[in-house]
Amino acid sequence: MQPLTNRSKVVVNKEMSLYEKIYLPAIISGMMITMSHFFKKKPTIQYPEQTREFSGVYRGQHVLKRDDNGAERCTACGLCAVACPAEAITMTAAERKPGEEKLYREEKYAAVYEINMLRCIFCGDCEDACPKEAIFLTDRKVNSELKRNSFIYGKNILVEGVDKRVDVSRRQTPAVLEFKKHKEFEHNR
Ligand code: SF4
Ligand code: SF4
Repeated sequence: MQPLTNRSKVVVNKEMSLYEKIYLPAIISGMMITMSHFFKKKPTIQYPEQTREFSGVYRGQHVLKRDDNGAERCTACGLCAVACPAEAITMTAAERKPGEEKLYREEKYAAVYEINMLRCIFCGDCEDACPKEAIFLTDRKVNSELKRNSFIYGKNILVEGVDKRVDVSRRQTPAVLEFKKHKEFEHNR
């Protein structure tokens, strides 16, 4: 038959040698490969009894930080929500009332702040976008849940406790910490 293109290759069906025809050497060689894996270190672990050490740059469950006096740092500016590629963040802003200075650092605060953990891809863009150093991704895992609604984390889960601060220094390299000492960032301290 006339080929449509000249890209076709002629495949030669080579005659099998006697060594190949008896198959046994090929079977033994295959078995030896299988046996060699019995003595190798197992890459699997017995989860949940055993857990792996996370990488130093692992980004897990978010935290909304408080300042040194215990006031919430978030000013509900919405930059994290705008930066979020998964549209996982929603919030409702409210105005701070007189007497609430110890609760909220800025005159505007997030009355409602929610992250849908099923949408989140843990990219860290929200953390990078935040001008108030209010949101960080931590080395904590998001728990498994049975209902989808349980993955919508509100302030009750996200805001750190006054007496239970969450350490976010793991991914902050000395160079980043030095950068944040700059005069322009004084308002964030
Ligand atoms: S980590 Fe990324 S995907 Fe998750 S909430 Fe922040 S910006 Fe959105
Ligand atoms: S977490 Fe940061 S970026 Fe997001 S609303 Fe609060 S202050 Fe703005």
